[in-house]
Amino acid sequence: MSFAYKDVGEMRVYPLYCGGDMTDWAIFDPFDARVGTKVFNPYFIYLVTHPDGNVLFDSGPHPDLRTDPRSRLGAGADAFEVVMTEHDWLVPRLATLGMTPTDITHVVQSHLHFDHAGGLEWLTHAKVYVQREELAFARNPPRYQREIFVANDFNHSIQWVELDGKCDLFGDGLLRIVPTPGHTRGHQSLLVGLRSRPVFLLGDAAYLVSKMRTRSVPAVAWSPDAFMSTWDAVEAIEQTEGARLVATHELDFKSSVPMAPQAWFA
Ligand SMILES: [Zn+2]
Repeated sequence: MSFAYKDVGEMRVYPLYCGGDMTDWAIFDPFDARVGTKVFNPYFIYLVTHPDGNVLFDSGPHPDLRTDPRSRLGAGADAFEVVMTEHDWLVPRLATLGMTPTDITHVVQSHLHFDHAGGLEWLTHAKVYVQREELAFARNPPRYQREIFVANDFNHSIQWVELDGKCDLFGDGLLRIVPTPGHTRGHQSLLVGLRSRPVFLLGDAAYLVSKMRTRSVPAVAWSPDAFMSTWDAVEAIEQTEGARLVATHELDFKSSVPMAPQAWFA
């Protein structure tokens, strides 16, 4: 598929850095030779400015993960050494751009794991786009993903827009939600038609693009088979659109991701 993009003036994608955690290489690839060593795994929210609204892709970690991780993750907190400062979450990161949560009109949630959905509590006025299957999966997760869904992230009076597949957010081809299951049952990604070069915000459709290239399945997987189909589809979109792939947890983020407020994709 290929789209003719309407010229709506300058659209930007601001990556908002939100700290991260120290994670074993096994999470990224259980067969990697570096298993047994820890690396810094970053968290990000992305703000997309469009003339019809300010759109978030994901809402990042909850601030209590820094001060009291057990209050969010329970016993699962022992598996994650969260590294965040008081600035590394939604509200202070938006403030660096002169914005507050009320300036956000739409949220596209890639999925509902704790490092992606912890800001929803501040976004109950916005429309939150999620795959219907993701919401059901998150509310009743399988045993092997129970620790990484935190019900308190999404048990709010949220204005859910439950999707069954693709969605063209503003009907202009510029913000396209694409289902990318594998990591979770209802995972989705966002293709942003920036004028210079489209950016495909993958979320956790792949932890690392390099591991997607070798079809190496990460430790957190709902379905390896779904990952295979998703990765074929991601690479097809990459080719036809000439899109830049941006995975949330890319380890080389300091050199590969422009960080707000100083830098952005445009
Ligand atoms: Zn994640």
